[in-house]
Amino acid sequence: MKDLHSKITILSGAAKYDASCATSGSSGFQSKGNKIGHTLPLGVCHSWTQDGRCVSLLKVLYSNVCKYDCAYCVNRASADIPRASFTVTELADLTCEFYKRNYIEGLFLSSGIFADPDIVMEKLIDTAKTLRTVNGFGGYIHLKLIPGTGEKTILEAGKWADRLSCNIELPTEKSLKCLAPEKSKEDILGAMNDFAGLKTENDSSRGKKSFFAPAGQSTQLIVGASEEHDRQIINLTSSLYNKFSLKRVYYSAFIFPTPGEKKSDPRLPEIIAPPLVREHRLYQADWLLRFYHFKADEILSEDAPFLDSLIDPKTVWALKNLDFFPIEINRADYETLLRIPGIGAKTARRIIENRRARSLSIENLARMGAVLKRGRYFLTANGKHIERPDDPARIRRLLEGQDGAGLQLPLFDF
Ligand code: SF4
Repeated sequence: MKDLHSKITILSGAAKYDASCATSGSSGFQSKGNKIGHTLPLGVCHSWTQDGRCVSLLKVLYSNVCKYDCAYCVNRASADIPRASFTVTELADLTCEFYKRNYIEGLFLSSGIFADPDIVMEKLIDTAKTLRTVNGFGGYIHLKLIPGTGEKTILEAGKWADRLSCNIELPTEKSLKCLAPEKSKEDILGAMNDFAGLKTENDSSRGKKSFFAPAGQSTQLIVGASEEHDRQIINLTSSLYNKFSLKRVYYSAFIFPTPGEKKSDPRLPEIIAPPLVREHRLYQADWLLRFYHFKADEILSEDAPFLDSLIDPKTVWALKNLDFFPIEINRADYETLLRIPGIGAKTARRIIENRRARSLSIENLARMGAVLKRGRYFLTANGKHIERPDDPARIRRLLEGQDGAGLQLPLFDF
């Protein structure tokens, strides 16, 4: 029998590769008489994974015993690692003790598939339910949906958790079959679809304040473990947002779970380091889909299916569509302003608000937060250019690596 300290060591280490957690400012469970835990004012505590990414705590697995053998996963059945499982009471008490010591702001709970999906899911639900009803915990709870879980179980999970997520893992069925043969696309998309239906039903029947997973659903996709290009990933992302109303798709740069792994599993790719720049560009492209009204086929095309590692995707689009520019900031509508590199949603709103009272100059723009080192080629203020976009190749050279992503410095040696 393992003691609690060994369990937390094993099961928090086993969970650190899942990037799909963030609190998203859910306020659903503070108003229900719960005594502790507020996600809105405090956000969450974070920790750093080996590859330099920031992740939330308390992030644990209920159990790292798993019947499945996903090639990319440290917990796969064939891995020779120490195994452990919590009990519901242990995990609920531990979460509260961590919370009271201000180590964490919420719980992110997933699990290996140690039994039938519904049985595994019931353990996760029991933990959340115990936290809410026995411990009076009002903090953020994110539960992983185990693919293959039935609709009834998803409904129950949504009563106690702020957010649910079912990981899509890989961009295509072919890759899933190769790297995670026990998982199926139908089960994963089925769980997302059931969640989306239940959420719509609950939100419309209870009015504005829904207590069915108020922070919605998200998913995680591993980047670089399989051969798909960014265009396939962005197309998939776009359809997930449209079909299942996902709040977020998280991208996780593939990392070998244990050093030297690639030699033992021929299904895994040869990489020298996790593709963190690619992950970063995918997040930028995702941002364009969600907040800048871009369509997936505007970001990537068949003849250029990978995101540019040296320039952000919005600037790449602008350089390919120079006839759309320059944009006159005193006349353009909100959607058009959003297309200018260096102008974000906040700045676009400020421009619209401020120009009601007066005509705006280039100097005003800088004060409103526009990044003119990128935007300078693509806009005019009262007909005045900062610089004309006469030579796209020259502009490209000047902008390459300016956001620092292509030159990302490693925090650790791999
Ligand atoms: S189902 Fe696959 S990804 Fe999940 S814990 Fe088991 S081996 Fe890892």
